[in-house]
Amino acid sequence: MMAVRSALLAGAQVLGIAWLCTGCGPQKDDVAPAAQPVYQDVIIISIDGLRSDALLSLKPEQLPSLMRLKRGAHTLNARTDPAFTVTLPNHTGMITGRVVEGEQGHQWRWNEPHEDGRTIEENLGEPLDHIFAGALRGEVQPALFATKDKFLLWPDTWNLGEEDQIPYSTIVHKETPEVLRDFDRYLVANADKRDLIFLHIHDCDTRGHADGWNLTKDSAYLDTLQKVDLMLCGILERLDQIAAQGHHTAVIITADHGGGVPYKNHHGQGMQWINYVIPFFAWGTDGQLSGDLYKINAEHREDPSLLMPLPEAWPPPIRNSDAANLSLSLLGLPPLSASTVNAEQELRVQP
Ligand SMILES: [Zn+2]
Repeated sequence: MMAVRSALLAGAQVLGIAWLCTGCGPQKDDVAPAAQPVYQDVIIISIDGLRSDALLSLKPEQLPSLMRLKRGAHTLNARTDPAFTVTLPNHTGMITGRVVEGEQGHQWRWNEPHEDGRTIEENLGEPLDHIFAGALRGEVQPALFATKDKFLLWPDTWNLGEEDQIPYSTIVHKETPEVLRDFDRYLVANADKRDLIFLHIHDCDTRGHADGWNLTKDSAYLDTLQKVDLMLCGILERLDQIAAQGHHTAVIITADHGGGVPYKNHHGQGMQWINYVIPFFAWGTDGQLSGDLYKINAEHREDPSLLMPLPEAWPPPIRNSDAANLSLSLLGLPPLSASTVNAEQELRVQP
């Protein structure tokens, strides 16, 4: 057996084949922080249940806002958490820079607050750093706007101490217009302050569960996606106005999961590409952010084709949980303590 292996290795060396050589590829230890522009404000927008290929199923002019945001640094081949394609575990990854399982995983596996009332930190058994706390440490105002009740788990976890770590939140179940009105009021009232805002929009997910993640012409799901695009149009108009006053904002767009297998769902058979392929865009009002994210991060991110790489795979794919440390990086703030995804803030968002 040894002789066969030696012969293979010798042959591989002659042919210049790298795949037999352990340690030849890019190494995790080589990763360094990316040089990024710094923005006054960063907004992470999670479009619940947005499968990437929906963005290819409509004409660009039917999704003007998402197509504008996609002109930033972008990929349609980002990934959910490697083991979960449901809402709360993935969103908790987006704000902690961790996957669910394994060492330093955030360990929140449930798609609802737990019936015994435990918080995320009680479940983990130790404090868990997150973007709202990271913003506060950097004297940036954090705010949360969400359209599902289950997000109450976050303030329930992090507003227990002496100081609320999520001092501003609006959470109204499936009432997107109401939440967006408050979000817009917040943007106007805080136009000259530094903010890190997390905004969750439920509508595509709700439509998918009701009528299926159907990409055929005029489907209810695609119709809802166009309505969400119109909501984003209002947000971008407001950000353009604020940018005209010299205050620039970076927007990160991603999703917690796609959907469609089994029909009208995205779990049960979660590890199907239709459920785990999601978009990831980073766009700035100043036009500085651009490029194919896998091309501009070739040393430390690998396009996984249609596969779901294991949590320990290196280079990893771009995941929705990259958003946490990217958002802090775009504010000029350091990464979250003990985070594992984009932990060196290596993810580049300009060529
Ligand atoms: Zn969801």
